[in-house]
Amino acid sequence: MKNYQDIINNIYKKLKNIDDPGNVADYIPELGTVSADNFGVNITTTDRASYGIGDYNKKFSIQSISKILTLTLAYQIVGEKLWERVDVEPSGNPFNSLLQLEADLGKPRNPFINAGAIVVCDVLISHLKNPKEDFLNFCRDLCHSSDLQYSDKVALSEKKTGYRNTALCNFIKSFGNIKNNIDDVLDFYFYTCSIEMTCEELSKVFLFLADEHFLCQKGNHILTISQAKRVNAIMLTCGFYDESGEFAFRVGLPGKSGVGGGIIAIHPDNYAIAVWSPKLNKKGNSYKGMHFLEQFTTDTESSIF
Ligand code: GLU
Repeated sequence: MKNYQDIINNIYKKLKNIDDPGNVADYIPELGTVSADNFGVNITTTDRASYGIGDYNKKFSIQSISKILTLTLAYQIVGEKLWERVDVEPSGNPFNSLLQLEADLGKPRNPFINAGAIVVCDVLISHLKNPKEDFLNFCRDLCHSSDLQYSDKVALSEKKTGYRNTALCNFIKSFGNIKNNIDDVLDFYFYTCSIEMTCEELSKVFLFLADEHFLCQKGNHILTISQAKRVNAIMLTCGFYDESGEFAFRVGLPGKSGVGGGIIAIHPDNYAIAVWSPKLNKKGNSYKGMHFLEQFTTDTESSIF
């Protein structure tokens, strides 16, 4: 049995004060108000042992990490038909790029870039009675906590400045791949991104992708084993925008980042680990977060490869 607490403590100490060339995202103004010094890590193993260090118990904006949760709920509801609306190929482009959509006739490359997540939100709106409420309840059930909330401040801040996402949504609608009202889809998308969680909560929520025993909750199947495999596969190939190859190369785990500075990574059959440090590298991924996870899988010799 590895001593995870000692391992994360040591890496944390080494990285805490390194020179971090990254920048806190401020294109969503409200995110820019978060202190760059936050740094937290939490790992939860499949036997439910949990180890944290630093700001692991502080809530932050999970942003694109929520794309795994919207994907999971949509996949649960519509099954394989989902792939008629969104593809499963790495984009090799920034998260908010419009470029490929023209050539791909409005079918986003994958559900983890903004275009793909916006289509997934559209699918959810078509199937949920009260999309915001139902999605939040889905997340609360996964977390076994009623303490999860959207941040109105962050969602409204993004709404005011979300020009690219508005462009993406309109562009996809022009190809017929958005079925609902643009404003409703964007509002739902901005809210899903604004959910706040701690590293500890994140590493518990995502246990369902680490161990099949967590795939069934309260008698309901979250996903089938085969679907969970597919979600992990998309995380490995598409979870880090145009740095997905680099993350797989350095860390060797399926994962997903968000511009709030969080990263979740999964080691199937072993653990889920969440890291938060708000300064992002040039590709939009947490600079320290990537370093931490690289060191962690190196020290524990526990990547999937
Ligand atoms: N809400 C953010 C956006 O759409 C999410 C981006 C991210 O975390 O990658 O720009």
